[in-house]
Amino acid sequence: MPEAHRVIPNNQKLSFIAASRRPASRRPAPATPPRAPRARAFLKIQTGCDHLCTFCITRIARGKAQSRPPRDIIKDAQNLHHTNAAREIILTGVDIASYNHNRIQLGALARLILNAIPSLSRLRLSSLDPAAIDPALLRLIAEEPRLQPHLHLSIQAGDSIILKRMRRRHDRQDIIRLAEKLRSIRPDIALTADLIAGFPTETETMFQRTRDIIKECRLAAAHVFPFSPHPETIAARMPQLPKTLIHERARILREDSATARLRHLKSLDRQSLPCLMETPRSGKTPCHALVETERDQAVGGIPTLRLSRDGDRLIGREA
Ligand code: SF4
Repeated sequence: MPEAHRVIPNNQKLSFIAASRRPASRRPAPATPPRAPRARAFLKIQTGCDHLCTFCITRIARGKAQSRPPRDIIKDAQNLHHTNAAREIILTGVDIASYNHNRIQLGALARLILNAIPSLSRLRLSSLDPAAIDPALLRLIAEEPRLQPHLHLSIQAGDSIILKRMRRRHDRQDIIRLAEKLRSIRPDIALTADLIAGFPTETETMFQRTRDIIKECRLAAAHVFPFSPHPETIAARMPQLPKTLIHERARILREDSATARLRHLKSLDRQSLPCLMETPRSGKTPCHALVETERDQAVGGIPTLRLSRDGDRLIGREA
């Protein structure tokens, strides 16, 4: 993983934490230069999933949902920020929207992390199930600028019958209402989504509804997956669409996604935004758009850049 800056095997994690707590030696410490700021670090907060989407093998492969204790997560976050100098922490897991440890849900956890680390510039969430976004998370999105204004939603389809056959916990109207709500509380938010093309029984009309959801929710982009049945799933036993049709629909959705991305880039044109530099010549806006620079910037720095669109690229110049 290119963003990972240190990988600690599970069986060495405790000794790593213990080592970091050992009292300082009386001998003068060797002069070690401070670590250069890192751009981003991933922090796993849970694993597994309690749902049974008919296309998904994760439940079978990863087992039931397990949420890590907030205290351990905060310690890891402090370590990533203070020791490894991460400017942005991304909370990850199989189903982070269902995070729940002794009734502490994702919104409360994110607030605890931000309160515990006032100097952390950015906290970001990985993919979210739209059915499980808790009220505390909505409040945090509205109130806390350090929670980055980008959500990647596991929407999968825009047609309610297909969503039911997928055994998702939201329908079309739920997604539209959620997108409206998110925009009303955080106008600069960018929404992206996973979409599946050619799910079993998907008619042309149903497919069009999935195309429409990109516009109706004003998505900034979609990750499109052509449906591919896994033999152990329920969806594999449903009436399948021809492969050529599945791939043609995926192609169309990807084109729609490219159009949506362009629309999003146009909305960023001429804005001045803080960009977290991940390489000397590229960084990310708060809403996770890629920005290229013409001059080298410090990796891990967050300069405010004035953005201009060049085709499907964003160029950032020092504001
Ligand atoms: S798609 Fe997501 S929510 Fe559904 S079973 Fe798989 S991991 Fe769980």
